[in-house]
Amino acid sequence: MVYVLNVYGKPLMPCSSVIARLLLKQGKAKVKGRTPFTIQLLYKTETEYVQSLTHGLDSGSAKVGSAVSGEKGNIVYMAQIETRYRKARWLNRKNSMKKDRFSPTMTSKIHAHVREMKFVQTVLPISKTIIETATFDPHALKNPAVLTNKWLYQKGINYGYANTKAYVLTRDGYCCQHCKGKTKDKRLEVHHIIFRSENGSDEEDNLLTLCKTCHDALHRGEVALKKKGKKKGKLNHATQMNSIGIQLLKRTHAEETFGFVTKEHRQLMRLPKEHYFDAVAITTQGKEPTFKTSNVLFKKCVSYGDYQQTKGVRSEQVMPTGKLFGFRKFDKVQYKGNDYFIKGRMSTGYAILMDTEGNKVDLKPIPKFSKMKRVSARKSWMTIPKIILSFYSCAT
Ligand SMILES: [Zn+2]
Ligand SMILES: [Zn+2]
Repeated sequence: MVYVLNVYGKPLMPCSSVIARLLLKQGKAKVKGRTPFTIQLLYKTETEYVQSLTHGLDSGSAKVGSAVSGEKGNIVYMAQIETRYRKARWLNRKNSMKKDRFSPTMTSKIHAHVREMKFVQTVLPISKTIIETATFDPHALKNPAVLTNKWLYQKGINYGYANTKAYVLTRDGYCCQHCKGKTKDKRLEVHHIIFRSENGSDEEDNLLTLCKTCHDALHRGEVALKKKGKKKGKLNHATQMNSIGIQLLKRTHAEETFGFVTKEHRQLMRLPKEHYFDAVAITTQGKEPTFKTSNVLFKKCVSYGDYQQTKGVRSEQVMPTGKLFGFRKFDKVQYKGNDYFIKGRMSTGYAILMDTEGNKVDLKPIPKFSKMKRVSARKSWMTIPKIILSFYSCAT
């Protein structure tokens, strides 16, 4: 899959790499970007057939899933973004102690989402964006009629119950309400206090989170619940409302969806639990996806404030950020045929390299600047494309 821009830089529908190669060979296009591979046409197109593409975003605090699909569920883009993580050492600084509405971490995470949305719009003609804002829809708890929504059309799914279950898990803090996590069983289930067989309702006050171990034991009659009767919801709605997704909705023209919908749809598609597959389930709105790409762009945010610019306990020693041998920290480089990022530079002309995960790569002999090529200057993102092989083999 190659992304295509018109002569003015406006995104068109992507094309296959075969067509892209032909256009480049004929001098009808030039390379605009390498990750992801993007070409720009050098001639004016008469009619521009632009399909309507939907961008789905699985918002999250640590990892963000991103995917784009066409009307028929054709997947043309997948990415996973690792948002910036600040080390705890910043937390005791005066600036971060200020009682702002959002902490610097929260602000930077919102920016990471917005940046991804903007990026996608530079390479693909996006007409709609859908963001997963929360795991459940609070409005639908009391009024399931609001779930009669256009993106909830997959037959056979009880969206109302799925929403209530997602609520109950959140209400119970994703913790077994019988053993309180003592069994260390991570498989959580939702139990009917008055059994369904005894006409127990599907409403939240009849539901309780139990781990599978406790749940099975309970149904075998080996344990009895300590608590009986109604459970009061003790959910902190303020926390819900401050989610990154809700902030994004306020800042963009996106539509909203919820985790319980994504989960049902993803399971229906039999896709593994990955943020980019959640984004696939969001963007197709439950339609069976057809993967036109098996590439996932793994992105990691780095910005000027993101890495250590000073050295020493009291941060008194400013580290050089200018060019050294024509290279800067975080530049993407090619060395012996592989792509790396510069982690450290030595005045003796050697470099310490790292992969996209930020892991130091031990290379012997130590790579020399004179032996490497700068692929691109440091950007706010480090991007490495990965082909998901296991999934590729089942798609063909
Ligand atoms: Zn338990
Ligand atoms: Zn049960």
